[in-house]
Amino acid sequence: MYRDMPREIPLSKPDITPLEESLVMQVLRSGRLSIGPMVEEFERQVADRCGCRHAVAVNSGTSGLHLAMRALNIGPGDQVVTTPFSFIASANAILFTGATPVFADICPRTLNMDPAKVERAINAKTKAILAVEAFGNPAYMDQYRSIAARHEVSLIEDCCEALGTTHKEDRCGSFGRVGVFGFYPNKQVTTGEGGMVVTDDERLADMCRSMRNQGRPIPARGHSSPSAPGFSSWLRHERLGYNYRLSEVNAAIGVGQMRRLDAIIERRREVAERYISRLAGHRHLILPTIDPETRMSWFVFVVRLDSSYTGEERDRVLSGLRGHDIGCGDYFPCIHLQPHFREQFGFEVGMFPIAESVSHRTIALPFHNGLTDREVEVVCQTLDVLIARENLTKR
Ligand SMILES: *Cc1c(COP(=O)(O)O)cnc(C)c1O
Repeated sequence: MYRDMPREIPLSKPDITPLEESLVMQVLRSGRLSIGPMVEEFERQVADRCGCRHAVAVNSGTSGLHLAMRALNIGPGDQVVTTPFSFIASANAILFTGATPVFADICPRTLNMDPAKVERAINAKTKAILAVEAFGNPAYMDQYRSIAARHEVSLIEDCCEALGTTHKEDRCGSFGRVGVFGFYPNKQVTTGEGGMVVTDDERLADMCRSMRNQGRPIPARGHSSPSAPGFSSWLRHERLGYNYRLSEVNAAIGVGQMRRLDAIIERRREVAERYISRLAGHRHLILPTIDPETRMSWFVFVVRLDSSYTGEERDRVLSGLRGHDIGCGDYFPCIHLQPHFREQFGFEVGMFPIAESVSHRTIALPFHNGLTDREVEVVCQTLDVLIARENLTKR
């Protein structure tokens, strides 16, 4: 490294150590690359961590959401209440089944759906609430749980951004009838690509196990997958299934990451607190609002410009950061305004004003386990300058 060479500060970076490397090598040398002990161990680790009886590993969070919907028999004619402020996968999973997403606008403090709006969106066709912990924040999850119970619909928890977060006695993953984690490289825990369905409901877990493996027969108790190739049930397909299996190689990365999860969460908390102490009281920025009874497992660090700023001004700040080799993101553009949603459902600007207003002003800052205090300082100073420059022309 040349000391004077400015170095890019990436938005995100996975934290892979010799432990993950040696577990991957162990799999490669074993010759068993799919349907094996690593997947089973990874499933046990995640189930234990979130306090659910069953965990079913899949090849992405999106696949997991699809299986959860299918296992709950959600299909054409059904409605699912969900948030317009999320990664596209949460609402797309509803479309996969032929059901209709019904959006409920968010609360500007927590960025999760406003519980009163969730309740108002429920009708006779509603089959489920698909609630997302935006940026890992479990706000209102307990309220969605009681709303779902009162209306006799299922709560599906998209906890893809919340592995390791707790609220009071509750652990993310255990709020709903079924929860889904994701392990893309920017998540707290990664497997490269991967996901996990968690539930206490044995029948639901069985359906997911069968459907992730081409609809093969539900495996015998204590086994993660139906018999391997060579057994008579291998070419028997009892329901429409998919190949959503997670490979042993990917699971090995996850096993290593889960063993280190407490250290990972702690490191991310330190980085988040560094940002918070540096940016607290900033005249133009709104910081994440976290309930004092929530113990966050930080996924990303997203601030937003106050409501006097436009989307164009925010975008100029993002380009300015990138111009200084600082990675950043505009998490999330509203789902209802994505081209395929507009086309299919006729959504228009103004339908979910809070989500729209928030989404124009967010700035995801570099956030990963390796981020140093100096880098946080460089990011914050650059951000200060870019915001000050917007104010020159503005006021
Ligand atoms: C990451 C994520 C997913 C799953 O994404 P995959 O890339 O399919 O693993 C789903 N929902 C949300 C809210 C996410 O952040």
